[in-house]
Amino acid sequence: MSAAELRGIPAAGGVAVGRAVVLFEPEAEAGGAGGERARADALAALDAVAAELDERADALRREGLAAEAEILAANALMASDPVLREEVAALALDVPAAIALRRAADRHAALLAALPDPLLAARAADVSELGRRAARRLAEPTPPLQADGPAIVVARDLGPAEVAELRDARALHVRGLALASGSATSHAAIMARSLGLPMAVGLGDGLLAVEDRGTLVLDGDRGRLYVEPDEATEAWGRSTMAWEEDLRRTLAAGRSLPAVTRDGEAVALLCNAGTAAEVKAGLAAGAEGVGLLRTELAFLEANAWPGEEEHVQALAPVLEPLRGRLATVRTLDFGADKTPPFLEGTPTRGISLLLEHPDALAAQLRAILRAGQAVRLRVLLPLVESREQLREVRALLHDAAAAVGVAVPPLGAMIETPLAAARARELAAEADFLSIGTNDLVQYTLGLDREAPLATVRTAADPAVLRHVASAGVAAAAVGVALEVCGEAAGIPPLAALFVGLGVGELSTAPARLDEIRAAVRGLSAAQARSAARAALDDPDAAAVLARAEVLLSELGDEIREAVGRRGGVVA
Ligand code: PEP
Ligand code: MG
Repeated sequence: MSAAELRGIPAAGGVAVGRAVVLFEPEAEAGGAGGERARADALAALDAVAAELDERADALRREGLAAEAEILAANALMASDPVLREEVAALALDVPAAIALRRAADRHAALLAALPDPLLAARAADVSELGRRAARRLAEPTPPLQADGPAIVVARDLGPAEVAELRDARALHVRGLALASGSATSHAAIMARSLGLPMAVGLGDGLLAVEDRGTLVLDGDRGRLYVEPDEATEAWGRSTMAWEEDLRRTLAAGRSLPAVTRDGEAVALLCNAGTAAEVKAGLAAGAEGVGLLRTELAFLEANAWPGEEEHVQALAPVLEPLRGRLATVRTLDFGADKTPPFLEGTPTRGISLLLEHPDALAAQLRAILRAGQAVRLRVLLPLVESREQLREVRALLHDAAAAVGVAVPPLGAMIETPLAAARARELAAEADFLSIGTNDLVQYTLGLDREAPLATVRTAADPAVLRHVASAGVAAAAVGVALEVCGEAAGIPPLAALFVGLGVGELSTAPARLDEIRAAVRGLSAAQARSAARAALDDPDAAAVLARAEVLLSELGDEIREAVGRRGGVVA
């Protein structure tokens, strides 16, 4: 294909220049035949893919990308979906294993793609990826992809694990991704944004005709791909890429600067973590401590409630790097999408579930107090809904402190449901601090599926969600307790700015988001944030709220503002 501009949909911001590396889909014409052997091979390939996805999820978790790791872990679980497996098994009796895998997965993907809910439809790519990966395991090994210099990978579609793999591919320096189909809400797009890989999707079948190794300029902000670009376009691409690299360095260089607004209000910048690696990444990015330590992630495969010693063993290495610093340890948040096998089918979640098993809760509280002696400990309870719950836990916490021989640490309540927001005043009166979990709050407020992708800029900017944050802000101020936000929205600059305006004094987010949030806080006037946030509560929709927030960030240096506005939560 000679000079051409392909128009698609922006999925991950940033500009990249590189050589095309075209990924051809393996044709489903694998050798062999159907039968018992094919059936066993196909099912074994699905098991192997599940193990591989779990391994990659662990690697992402170590990098501080917990939410992205959960996407892959969920896809690993999909490989054990009995309906999919039965279909694969039945087909493989008649056709070769690789074909059975592709057909069954593609059929499931087609069913999902036809659903009216765009979020569910976007999972179709994940199912196709499963089939593709499993089929690939049965095919002849192909030589690893290679290219001299930076590469832009061109493919029909990709799944989230493939995106993560491409970023790590040794022989390939991948700078961007261009897809013929795909969607901006897919897990692959979320992964690309988290990994900082520019991506355009929906570029159309014409994309697949680009020449392997030809020069491409990808504009992930506008969803454009320039094939064999003219000199001026290529020069623009190269200089933009260099400018973005500089910007990343500028943001990172601000790590030693305090997170204080222009009018002198300090905001505590904390990180969310589940592993020691995430804690270290957060501290390296300038976090003052941990605002949310998720303890359930270590026990998602458990067959029984973890005992005190198991908790200590899991916690000690994670708390070790936090000596002398704030560590907010949340008790187990089992239930819903975080249900270990032994709790399968349980209808309750969070602290309600723990209070149905007080011995398990007491064991965890003792473990937290034992492991947390060298840190500034706070204990946080998930999905709190009533002050009675706080009273019950406080009694257990007192007993635990007496048993361990330490002082009773501050006890906090998460505000994650509309009910908790409505009761914020009474919860604040009973708690030592409040923490808003926007991931759940967005889903419960807007009636979204718990499995929907991460809080996006538009869902979390909904005035109905902001009004719940405002209730918590008023309650915390009235009683004089600290208020933090620890959901994904705390890592999205315009939303973080509004949260500060609503009285939030602590922002806890993924380590990778800290540089931008610090820049946003430093560019903000807290007084302006307060009036903008108040006005936003009466806005008709998220778009109006975001327009206000953009004005708030207008005092940031031009370069930083542009980058901050562009990255993070671009999902519509
Ligand atoms: C939240 O719901 O925003 C939160 C931080 O908790 P989790 O994501 O662990 O449910
Ligand atoms: Mg939650």
